[in-house]
Amino acid sequence: METQKTVTDCSMHFNEVTPNAQQLIIAGPCSAESPEQLLDTAKTLSNDGRVDFFRAGVWKPRTSPGSFQGFGVESLKWLSDVKKETGLRVATEVGCERHVYEALKYGVDLLWIGARTVSNPFTVQEIADAIRGVDVPVLVKNPLSPDIDLWEGAIKRFIKAGVSDIGAIHRGFTPNSKSVFRNQPSWAVPLMLKNRMPELKIICDPSHITGKSDMVHLIAQRALTNNFDGLMIEVHPNPDKALSDANQQINAKDFTPFLNKIYNNQLQKKSDDLLTELRMEIDNIDDFLLETLATRMELVKHIASLKNDSKMEVVQFSRWERIIERIMSEAEEKGLRSQFVKKLFDNIHKESCLFQKTFISDKKLNRRSFL
Ligand code: PEP
Ligand code: MN
Repeated sequence: METQKTVTDCSMHFNEVTPNAQQLIIAGPCSAESPEQLLDTAKTLSNDGRVDFFRAGVWKPRTSPGSFQGFGVESLKWLSDVKKETGLRVATEVGCERHVYEALKYGVDLLWIGARTVSNPFTVQEIADAIRGVDVPVLVKNPLSPDIDLWEGAIKRFIKAGVSDIGAIHRGFTPNSKSVFRNQPSWAVPLMLKNRMPELKIICDPSHITGKSDMVHLIAQRALTNNFDGLMIEVHPNPDKALSDANQQINAKDFTPFLNKIYNNQLQKKSDDLLTELRMEIDNIDDFLLETLATRMELVKHIASLKNDSKMEVVQFSRWERIIERIMSEAEEKGLRSQFVKKLFDNIHKESCLFQKTFISDKKLNRRSFL
């Protein structure tokens, strides 16, 4: 009999082995919508032969009330039918103790904890206690915010409850400014988790990171380059009609070419997609820098007004010396060239002083300020 992979089985030797032997591939629709939709997708994925677990959300933790919340227990029966018909093992998200009992009752083979649930240690503990003593693999998604301690803490609650087949899913973090990604990848966070817990298997969910089906391969590719232990991909037979996450699901008929492409690129060390993804991250950082500069200018506006009211000089050299000293020491720690950082901050400071001086003289002349 073919031995089945566990979450902890997969290891990382991309150039030596096929993904199926070493990496965990989880694929399936965002949500279970009907018995036909599930079976249709599962048959296509089963034909591919590389999928370890078929995923489908039955309880959907929606951000807004009124969005599709999943069909719950009724759809667990559909999942168990998929298992019978295709032989694929099935996975779903659990968000409370009751979900665990129901999912196990219907023979779900892998449970994952969603990003919203992971942020609540009470709920995580409740779920861990419900799983105690049961031999089922668990994957813990990262919380919505890039709080590595919270993520690690949730994983440790499961380990303490005796879950031995445990892993993590990197699904990105809620962006706090304009972003090309639905959720910021912030790769440093999962890589740091790997550093802290070297034995832990971490897979990537590029569907929730990108939020767009035509970008999923870019993040998947980057995850492989970063030596992740597998992928969780959202796949739907008719993505335009999906009841949840319609924009990010890959059409089931495109799944095999999708996997072929990312793994072939990886094996042949093709760098086009990687370059595109890295440039997206650079664009994202440039947007963030601009937004940060604009926020800084808003504060400068308030300061100009206070200085005007109290008749203070615009330039306070001692304050500037302290700022530049602190910045230079931080820059050195981060490995940035000191001449570059000095020039950059001198320019920012010059613009800030010019703004304040113009603001104050405009006030005196009772004119509108230049911004
Ligand atoms: C999901 O996997 O469908 C899901 C809801 O994910 P997340 O918890 O990452 O938002
Ligand atoms: Mn989803």
